[in-house]
Amino acid sequence: MSLIETNSFPYLKLLGLGFGAVISTLAIKKRFEAEGKKDNDKVEINEVLFFTGDRAVCRKHINIRKPCHQNGCAYNFLSKMVKYIEGAKKTLDVCLYLLTCEDLCNSILSSFKRGVYIRVITDCDMSLSTGSKMNEFRKRGIEVRMRESSYIMHHKYVIIDKKILMNGSLNWTLQAICGNDDNLMITSQEQLVKQFVDNFDFLWSKFKHKKI
Ligand SMILES: [Zn+2]
Repeated sequence: MSLIETNSFPYLKLLGLGFGAVISTLAIKKRFEAEGKKDNDKVEINEVLFFTGDRAVCRKHINIRKPCHQNGCAYNFLSKMVKYIEGAKKTLDVCLYLLTCEDLCNSILSSFKRGVYIRVITDCDMSLSTGSKMNEFRKRGIEVRMRESSYIMHHKYVIIDKKILMNGSLNWTLQAICGNDDNLMITSQEQLVKQFVDNFDFLWSKFKHKKI
């Protein structure tokens, strides 16, 4: 009995090590597969839309909602912006000097109706300008805060679900989208997005007593 025990112990030990190695290999394989899947699922967004006055002609198919194949088509760009906003699942942090574009306003309102939590920061003077949608937001129940001073709240950025940032020179007006030379960068780079999230939270708190 003692002979069997003595002899079989090393085999059992080897068998145990073998099982251990197989299990470890499987665990590592599974981890790599999971990481690979995560990477595939996470689509990195890094693009810039360059709006140009040369595409002013595209304004006509904004009204009939028809895309064209021209590079930098204003309608295609607008549709892309709407798609990003309507893709919001939880939050939209809107920090815009000026917003008059009907389609963009409607996409924010429809996100609000879907239950997305929306915060809006704007400029005091521009909120009173013709065509500004800020009052409409307020009427529908979206909280709008603003900077009220002789200086302006000149940011033009929107953060979607604290993960995607749209930021650039573009004012969110049809005039700018169809006629100006402007840019809008869209990115999911975490380090960049985080800085804008922090900036929004800072301004949101700073303007807490200045609601419209
Ligand atoms: Zn076009």
